[in-house]
Amino acid sequence: MAYWLVLGRTYDPPTPTPPPAPSAKPVPTPMRPLRYECQRCGHQSNTVREEKPGNLFMEICTWIANPFVGGLYSVTREAGKKALCVNCGSEHMTEEVW
Ligand SMILES: [Zn+2]
Repeated sequence: MAYWLVLGRTYDPPTPTPPPAPSAKPVPTPMRPLRYECQRCGHQSNTVREEKPGNLFMEICTWIANPFVGGLYSVTREAGKKALCVNCGSEHMTEEVW
């Protein structure tokens, strides 16, 4: 051991090679970082303004008058809702599904 030190060397024991890390699955990166794009004004965002047909007052009234009709009204409103552009209010939105 002293011989090594005199020569100015140090003895490095071979470090055990770490086992190869399990290769993580590459996460597919979306083409665009934002989900929605307006075709009219080109506005890109991750949120849209949702608009339902009818109004909330009518919905509450129908629920009070007849829960069955109220439920039907709610389902109809939910089915008919549209995604609108936050910027210009256009209906023409393209959605990228990740
Ligand atoms: Zn727009």
